[in-house]
Amino acid sequence: MGKSGRLLRYLWAGPYTVLGLLLGGCAVLFGARMQRHDGVVEVSGGLIGRTLAKLPPTLGFAAMTLGHVILAIDRSALAQLRLHEHVHVRQYERWGPFFLPAYLLSSLLQLLRGRHPYRENHFERQAYAVVAEHRRLVRDSIRG
Ligand SMILES: [Zn+2]
Repeated sequence: MGKSGRLLRYLWAGPYTVLGLLLGGCAVLFGARMQRHDGVVEVSGGLIGRTLAKLPPTLGFAAMTLGHVILAIDRSALAQLRLHEHVHVRQYERWGPFFLPAYLLSSLLQLLRGRHPYRENHFERQAYAVVAEHRRLVRDSIRG
């Protein structure tokens, strides 16, 4: 895609990116590290990250994506989840302002069907499928 297409995708996901930068900026004030990687701003660690890491798994999270910003509890979580979160970045680029409502609606529909609202969420399934496919390709290329 050309430069204008790239700009459009950033603008389309922009409202969430602004939110991510605000949250990430707060995290940086409390010692988090901010860096750019593959066209995405990554924020990891600091006091907020350490606090979230202490929450029970059902309440906590290791990483989340807001537009072109990935927020992670620490650098190892960031490295582990980068590919998964980048699928979400692509989803934000496609859905723009509609991403979060669509994401929540998908969780709600799963819940109403008696399924797990996170694992069975359409967007999460897509992210997990991409990571699984990537791992399969890496495994196959190592085998030769
Ligand atoms: Zn996810």
